[in-house]
Amino acid sequence: MAPIMIVCPKCRRREEIKLNEFILRELHITGSANIAYYHSDHILYVNMDRYAIRTIATYDPPSMLIHGLNIYVDEYFVLRQPIIPNDMEIMFIDIKRKVADARLVSNHMYAVSLIRYLRINRKAIPEEGAINAYGVNYMIKRNGSILLAKKLKDDGDKAKNILMRLLADIKGVPVNLEKVLDIIL
Ligand SMILES: [Zn+2]
Repeated sequence: MAPIMIVCPKCRRREEIKLNEFILRELHITGSANIAYYHSDHILYVNMDRYAIRTIATYDPPSMLIHGLNIYVDEYFVLRQPIIPNDMEIMFIDIKRKVADARLVSNHMYAVSLIRYLRINRKAIPEEGAINAYGVNYMIKRNGSILLAKKLKDDGDKAKNILMRLLADIKGVPVNLEKVLDIIL
């Protein structure tokens, strides 16, 4: 099948609609799929059904309209649906498969910024430790290609402990939310 290409009406950047398992599932269950693409100072929004692309639009990044949409940040697919309100702010990233589970992150720009930071500083990411991604502090812990990042609000030891417990139980991204919530709440 030829790739489905779209052109951003604002910056003319070309994007491919990759029908990954998450988009196909959304199409199957709801009859349409919403996908966002991060484009620095704006976000490209695409709505499609099983027959065609229905809508292409652009929004400002802080817009609440696209806050809860799954979003491509370059080659990474960042899951945002459904957002689970919580005060842990943990993100799960599979660096190899380029999938991030950000359903436990309340602010979508935090999720996007962290992915951008990890892409750019990939070689400098420690196995474990604190990082500062564009002004936001995270405790991170990594096991092979699976990377966990928790926004640092409380003390680092507590965050490290939570990440350690999670990492021992996580088999892949997206995570089993029921299991994760059991551990963190
Ligand atoms: Zn654009």
